[in-house]
Amino acid sequence: MVKKTVQETTDSTKSNENISVNQAASGAEPPALEIPNAIIVGNLAGIMQIGPIDVIKQLMRLGHMYTINDVLDFELAAEVAESFGFDVYEPEEIKLDATSIVPSNDSPDSKDLIIRPPVITILGHVDHGKTTILDAIRNTKVVDAEAGGITQHIGAYQVVHNDKLITFIDTPGHEAFTAMRVRGAQVTDIAVLVVAADDGLMPQTHEAIDHITAAGVPMLVCINKMDKPEADPEKIKRQLSERDLLVEDWGGDIICVPVSATKKDGIPALLENLQLLAEMAELKGNPDKLATGVVVEASVDKRRGPVATALVQTGTLKVGDYITIRDLRGRVKALLNDQGTKIDHAGPSTPVEILGISGLPEAGDIFNVSPDEKTAKQITLEYQQTVANHTSKLEDAYTRIESGLAKYINLIIKTDVQGSVDAVLSMLNSLSSEQSKIKIVRASAGGITENDVMLASASDSVIIGFNSELQPGASVLATQEGVEIRTYKIIYDLTDDIAKALHGLLEPVFKDVVEGEAAVRETFDIGSKGTIAGFYVNKGKITREATLHVIRNGELLHEGAIISLKHFKNDAREVSNGNEGGVLINGFNEFEEGDILEAHRSEQVPT
Ligand code: GDP
Repeated sequence: MVKKTVQETTDSTKSNENISVNQAASGAEPPALEIPNAIIVGNLAGIMQIGPIDVIKQLMRLGHMYTINDVLDFELAAEVAESFGFDVYEPEEIKLDATSIVPSNDSPDSKDLIIRPPVITILGHVDHGKTTILDAIRNTKVVDAEAGGITQHIGAYQVVHNDKLITFIDTPGHEAFTAMRVRGAQVTDIAVLVVAADDGLMPQTHEAIDHITAAGVPMLVCINKMDKPEADPEKIKRQLSERDLLVEDWGGDIICVPVSATKKDGIPALLENLQLLAEMAELKGNPDKLATGVVVEASVDKRRGPVATALVQTGTLKVGDYITIRDLRGRVKALLNDQGTKIDHAGPSTPVEILGISGLPEAGDIFNVSPDEKTAKQITLEYQQTVANHTSKLEDAYTRIESGLAKYINLIIKTDVQGSVDAVLSMLNSLSSEQSKIKIVRASAGGITENDVMLASASDSVIIGFNSELQPGASVLATQEGVEIRTYKIIYDLTDDIAKALHGLLEPVFKDVVEGEAAVRETFDIGSKGTIAGFYVNKGKITREATLHVIRNGELLHEGAIISLKHFKNDAREVSNGNEGGVLINGFNEFEEGDILEAHRSEQVPT
């Protein structure tokens, strides 16, 4: 445990925002710095007023590889802050879920912490009634009854129940839920798992359970469509128990609320129980500091420019604030609440539309407020530099585990059929000692979907496909989110790679790509230098860097590098489809008219 010096700070001018780096380095009395239980690297840099790159470098010196958006626990954050000359102490009486992000610069005075509304996300299988439940809650409980119950759809809304606010993420499904977690943000305090009473646990219910479990947030089960004659809630409770989820009347501690969303039955009980869970979680926030939060939705409005709906997590967001989101910057031009009303500030757990950002952020992006424009600029610049240093998680696994940076490789296993799931899992189990370093986040049959990619991104997993097809969109999303996908057709290759990864021996994967095809039309003997093949490109292109395969009657005669590539008389970097050219290949002169030249390139499989 890091040594802590608790300092009484009653003078409000001594707030963290006023600590200067010079003061920290000057050898004068070390400035006090309060660090929450968990803090994002970028935020730690912000409250110390030290560049994020310097903080990341210091972490490296201490043997840790972190990026600007990674979360540090108190011990490590304190070690870093102390190395910059700060006197560190923990906030009092803050008990928050270890997975939730507690942003920075809390005022040292714990009385500043106020109870904040819980943020709820609704998950479950399609057609089980998530949207209807969200509508039923909104229509019966809008904050501003005078507005006639009309709320804007901005991606999140608040209702009042028993004189207390509850915030709902108004985009049902786990896309919304995981998008929030993708970059380490944890927006949801409580997850509601909706299951239709006339149906049962379906594939997306299972996926939702995986997401909720991976996030480590409390869960409430809502059995919907109770009005239907074929409703069978006991069946659902039994199915839940098969996944080790025991509801209260089955001897467990998971609250289960039966509702009928269409009849609006059970909605007050649902809200009541959500408030109960919220009270147990002791959700607190400090409104008295620069705001941090998460983007829930964003779009470009023709008149207003980029508009982001964000949820303030801690602090108070104000009009005029300097805001950064990834590499985007801006000054908050206007704030609108979920009723479309202009407001000038928004505190913890408040959903708000933000105008004035320089570009379009994505759901799940974290926003931060900087004390001034210069700091905001520096943060965005350094973010760009950090993003450039992405490495493969699987290739990196050994170093990360050995250096103590990671305890496990998280894997998501997708296979063609259910039988192969068991086969892959038992093979991975047979990796004996290594097996303890593997954590299976999900193992199921089916194609690799965008959902898998989202879960992988949120849980820092590598996706392993065994005879499993990549679904449309998954590949693009994986590239965007930096998720590594490896696909295998042979089970031994799969386990071999995992074993190698755990021993630090895994090499990057390359795949052979055919870039183009040409037909030889003429040959030119140029004496001792060899024979040039005059060709016509039928498909794609022939590039200077390609390896050419010479194929005659379907048979591969030679593979060789290109010595010279010409288009007309000129040296060319590439000759594209429909054009003629000449090529000299290393080690082959016996071209004949009609030979096929196939241009191959080795490409690293994107991670
Ligand atoms: P989502 O895909 O989970 O958002 O599901 P929806 O909210 O769109 O609901 C799917 C269908 O189920 C719609 O036709 C709803 O009218 C219907 N539905 C939702 N809740 C109930 C309910 O409590 N009872 C009955 N009978 N139908 C419901």
